[in-house]
Amino acid sequence: MWQEIEIMMELTLYNSLKREKQVFKPMNPKRVTMYNCGPTVYSYAHIGNARAAVVADVLFRVLRHIYGEDHVVYARNLTDVDDKIIKAAKELGVPISEITEKYAKIYQDDLAALNCLPPTSEPKATEHIGGMIDLIKTLLKDGYAYESDGHVFFDVSKYDEYGQLSGNTLDALKKGDRVGEGEVARKKNAADFVLWKPELDGVGWDAPFGKGRPGWHIECSAMAKSELGETIDIHCGGVDLKFPHHENEIAQSNCAHGKPMANYWVHNEFLNMGKDKMSKSLGNIVLVHDLLKDWDGEVIRLALLKAHYRSELVWSEDLLRESKKNLDDCYRVIKKTIRLVGGATKILKQKYDFNEIPKGHSLELRDDLNTPDALKFMLERAGTLNACLGLEHIGDANGYLKDLKKVGDMLGLLQKDSEEWFRGEGKEGGLSDEAIENLIVERAEVRAQKNWARADEIRDIFKAENIILEDGKTGTTWRRG
Ligand code: AMP
Ligand code: ZN
Repeated sequence: MWQEIEIMMELTLYNSLKREKQVFKPMNPKRVTMYNCGPTVYSYAHIGNARAAVVADVLFRVLRHIYGEDHVVYARNLTDVDDKIIKAAKELGVPISEITEKYAKIYQDDLAALNCLPPTSEPKATEHIGGMIDLIKTLLKDGYAYESDGHVFFDVSKYDEYGQLSGNTLDALKKGDRVGEGEVARKKNAADFVLWKPELDGVGWDAPFGKGRPGWHIECSAMAKSELGETIDIHCGGVDLKFPHHENEIAQSNCAHGKPMANYWVHNEFLNMGKDKMSKSLGNIVLVHDLLKDWDGEVIRLALLKAHYRSELVWSEDLLRESKKNLDDCYRVIKKTIRLVGGATKILKQKYDFNEIPKGHSLELRDDLNTPDALKFMLERAGTLNACLGLEHIGDANGYLKDLKKVGDMLGLLQKDSEEWFRGEGKEGGLSDEAIENLIVERAEVRAQKNWARADEIRDIFKAENIILEDGKTGTTWRRG
């Protein structure tokens, strides 16, 4: 019997800053704020970049579910000024905006195909130069930064808590110099990082400390402040950004404002190719843009959600194939329910009120975004729904379908029309889904009657059509091989 499950009101998140799982408490439940470091837009995004965006999107969906759609403000920036962009523009003889606008659009389209909701705002670094200059002025005035040869540096020795996020101590940093050689000569401490640097190839903005361009870290501090406030609830990004990027954001913002930049830091682990992190520098990248030519965006998204965000995810074709099968199973059951149960279409079309009391299916996601368990729940629900249809428990079917729709909405899956999902599959003139399901029912009946001749005939029909049956606890499911 279908029943609504117990509710759980709290969301827990692993806070990288405190190194523990904590109950999430927003500063203002009417305006929950999250910031995610977006891409540097000069090339196509790879599937590792997409993992960071999809994890943040699940968090955004969960927060909207808990606090209400209009009470969550999500900013994901675009870094549209950077040495790599300037170099590429120079090579092509075009303004940097020509490159950044093209790749920003591709990034947005790729993420939309993966069912990522548009963030509340997508600030561009070049539109926040004034805010960056103001922050640098404050840091200079208060003695946290110094000018040197057309550059402005943050003086890490002035901030006792430097290293709090990554655990890097100043002593350790002194041993390994992590910055460009040209910069070292002008710095007081090897670990100091650049806030402002002179113009490059004609790209620069007027500032009291000389015409120039911002360092990468100050961009996010300025954009987060402008879009969300001096202290935000949650800051996200991949683990590779913990140091130096996020450490430096913390140093700048905390020193300029005298308060924490973010209360919770959420970091996703890497997506790997074999043992290595997927990254441009290793040359092992798979582009979202290319994957979308062969796979539906939902298949790619489900594959990205198969591992918990704090575990590494090893990318493979098998992962995609398995994800496709999972979605086929769910969509097939949905399609069957629409055929057999009145009102099913209405249930699927309904937009569930995110303010409504959360039901059990969100339990897993509320436990530090446990997507593998939430996916397990989704597939179990599809199996139970299938069994219900077989037993003609039509009343319960509506409840299970509603669960499927809700968990799908939370995960950003099952957003398509089930007919459309299967369109183009199966060969011309082959068996329709309905004919296949009727044959499965007949197969069960003739087997019960020990009519082996007909059972064999049915088996041969399926074989000829390349239909694969799987008998499970909750009934028989099928797929096209
Ligand atoms: P980038 O454009 O390299 O700054 O990356 C944009 C986002 O993708 C950041 O949050 C990175 O931490 C994240 N990211 C980059 N590579 C990977 C990877 N292989 N696995 C997971 N996240 C990644
Ligand atoms: Zn950032």
